[in-house]
Amino acid sequence: MSNNLVDFTGKVAFITGAGVGIGRATALAFADAGADLALVSIGEKDLKETARLVEEKGRRAHAVVADISDSDAIAAAISSTVDTLGRLDFAVNNAGIEQPNTPIEETTEEDWNRLIAVNLTGVFLSMKHEIPVMRGSGGGSIVNISSGAGVMGIRNQAAYAATKHGVIGLTKSAALEVASENIQINAICPGIIETPMMGRFSGGTPEGRARVIGQEPIGRMGKPEEIASAILWLCSPLGGFTIGHAFVIDGGQTVGI
Ligand code: NAD
Repeated sequence: MSNNLVDFTGKVAFITGAGVGIGRATALAFADAGADLALVSIGEKDLKETARLVEEKGRRAHAVVADISDSDAIAAAISSTVDTLGRLDFAVNNAGIEQPNTPIEETTEEDWNRLIAVNLTGVFLSMKHEIPVMRGSGGGSIVNISSGAGVMGIRNQAAYAATKHGVIGLTKSAALEVASENIQINAICPGIIETPMMGRFSGGTPEGRARVIGQEPIGRMGKPEEIASAILWLCSPLGGFTIGHAFVIDGGQTVGI
């Protein structure tokens, strides 16, 4: 971006779920804007590739393999970020997992517990460890990734929707706690975005793709870069008055019928 209000030279962004999809696109967008990157993911191979792409843009990359549902692991990832890259300005709590399409009575407790652990506890733990570091350095901006499933019910997706509604409650409440300390916290609710997760969810077949695109008034899937640009806006001075907002970016998916 050429707008100098989105110049992040000298800043550090911490992104969870940075191996592929929205997380990788966001990492590359921050790198294009001049930031150095701390990259967290559970999968090492994809994470290394994101780090290579960031470095190819001339920015530093600190890659940490960690499960965001593990409090010690996420705390260590944040502290090694400050040790390695010197600071923490932005955090994008993006890592998440999908639910198999199952009605509630067929949803296993194992699936429920894992969805809560990653999608909800993972965001809680990330903010819990990010906020004190940002407070210590005078401020920062946190963006949590919710979903269209955070603002509407979806049949056969009750567990996923519960976690994503929960992310919005966490976001709004935490945002109120720290707004006066120059720490902004917001959420983004993406629609149907073309990522490996959506490939799995749709089955990747022409019929499966047509079915999910059928939910989109715009008539196509969103690109991960179209979510990344909103995250950058929220972290820049352009989004400086935005607090506790759940920003729906969804091609019209949740607008109405
Ligand atoms: P993806 O599955 O394509 O990528 C997710 C990344 O997170 C991967 O790098 C994966 O290794 C990592 N990850 C998964 N579990 C982790 C864990 N426990 N700890 C650390 N890293 C972990 O997903 P995506 O489509 O890019 O989605 C990113 C976020 O956006 C998720 O929170 C998802 O729920 C949300 N979202 C996606 C869509 C969509 O249509 N793709 C729509 C709405 C919301």
